[in-house]
Amino acid sequence: MDRAAKSRTAEKHESTARAAKPVRRLPKKPLPRSRYSREEITEIFTRFRQLRPEPRGELYHTNPYTLVVAVALSAQATDEGVNRATKHLFAVADTPQKMLALGEEKVRDYIKTIGLYRNKAKNVIALSQKLIDEFGGEVPRDRDQLTTLPGVGRKTANVVMSMAFGISTMAVDTHIFRIGNRLGLAPGKTPDEVEEILMRIIPEEFLYHAHHWLILHGRYTCKARKPDCEHCIIADLCKSKEKTCDVPAAIVPIPQQTLPGMN
Ligand code: SF4
Repeated sequence: MDRAAKSRTAEKHESTARAAKPVRRLPKKPLPRSRYSREEITEIFTRFRQLRPEPRGELYHTNPYTLVVAVALSAQATDEGVNRATKHLFAVADTPQKMLALGEEKVRDYIKTIGLYRNKAKNVIALSQKLIDEFGGEVPRDRDQLTTLPGVGRKTANVVMSMAFGISTMAVDTHIFRIGNRLGLAPGKTPDEVEEILMRIIPEEFLYHAHHWLILHGRYTCKARKPDCEHCIIADLCKSKEKTCDVPAAIVPIPQQTLPGMN
């Protein structure tokens, strides 16, 4: 074999070897572990269930469509502020068709007390149009389809899947993200990590209501600036460095909450 032929053969072998080399996938970084045992987690959610047997979200809506709109409007706004605006908006437009007939300018007027209202009005019109064009005017149940709607991210899709269609999801908002990390229940760096850890560690029997229990616990007890540990029903179980009391508050069941901003 002459030198040129040898070199061609060597190149061929080399390229075959390159092609045959298995693709090395980087192993998925393991998620941080919860600081709580399965028994402790069961006890925490048993108490949440005793306190609020039927928890529900606090955003006013009348059907899956108005729920999507309400959740999309609630980004960086309080549920109370959104409800004050949507109780009037949904009285005139509770379907995508009616919303389009109302038009962007009027939608803007209804929601102008909510932060980022100009952009949100645009999204409400665009998502209504998309629902009509691509989903027959119905809200899809699927997360991937929901997140194609303008203004709808993973968190919004999770809320809609849970509240409109009864699918167990974990919509990680600011309260759940804080609790996950403050307590070490689900110490994740991102909302997606916290979601994944919580979905893995919460026993099936609690999973459907878990995101509401956590949100309400964060909103009314384990508050951002100063957790109200003296009134916390899990103070004895909590492993947070920030806690100021070890004695759990008595569990007095709370009647179903009224929606804020609706009076
Ligand atoms: S004891 Fe305090 S820090 Fe722990 S969950 Fe209760 S309110 Fe939050």
